[in-house]
Amino acid sequence: MNRNDCKIVQDLLPNYIENLTSKETNNFIDEHLKKCKECKDIYDNMTKNIKIDNIKNNKKEVKYFKKFNNKLKNLKIIIIFIIVLILVVSIFAYNNLKNIILLNSLEEKLKNINTSNYSYTTEMITNDEKTITKCFVLNEKYYVEIEKVNEKTIVKSYKDDKDDIILYDKDGAILYKINGQTNSKIDMNILPTNPKYFALDIYAISKNDIKEISKEGKYYVLNTKNNYKYWVERDTGIVVKVLSLDTNESMSFKYNFNNVKEDDIVKPDVSEYVK
Ligand SMILES: [Zn+2]
Repeated sequence: MNRNDCKIVQDLLPNYIENLTSKETNNFIDEHLKKCKECKDIYDNMTKNIKIDNIKNNKKEVKYFKKFNNKLKNLKIIIIFIIVLILVVSIFAYNNLKNIILLNSLEEKLKNINTSNYSYTTEMITNDEKTITKCFVLNEKYYVEIEKVNEKTIVKSYKDDKDDIILYDKDGAILYKINGQTNSKIDMNILPTNPKYFALDIYAISKNDIKEISKEGKYYVLNTKNNYKYWVERDTGIVVKVLSLDTNESMSFKYNFNNVKEDDIVKPDVSEYVK
């Protein structure tokens, strides 16, 4: 055996193992490995190491892919979480927006009502008292009648555009006639409430404070965060009832538009009570 051949083969072995050698060289090396134990041993050793290296590399790759997969899983969870968060925020924003659009449209309806000629009846109920207010407005003239009812007494007051106040107590028959003064049992400083502005006031209070709005027959029912409930006419935007869920006190309103006559604003005859 030619020692020189061994040197050449051993030099070529790495390329031979990697399949980088030509067919003739391969034949030459094959022939040589069959005959030379020393070179065969070197060859066997080299291929064994390569196998181990490959296995090591494969293991590394598997580890890397596992890591990558875990990262992907985490990313999926984060993306799902973000989508759910966006959905929740969107639903909340949509509901708020829907409520504000609805209240704005009711306000617009209110503005179309002509309130130069209207009458209304208000009933305010508290735990121990009921106050009924009847009001007639015709152009610049008005007439207001207030009746306060509690367990003991019924007190009636009248006020018209000439600022006269006549008040009597049904039980005690105590009578006051006051011109432009307010030391009566009922604060008569009130002017006829324009139902439009009253409702707009309520909208202004409740707009940022609405918990939910539902439909109830011909009304919208607004529930506010501070436990008030408003009934609003869907056709007109007029507030017809306000209820405090905490105290159970309520105010209800009945309006009539464009049906007030001159007679309605004439003071009733109370001469029998005036001394
Ligand atoms: Zn050899």
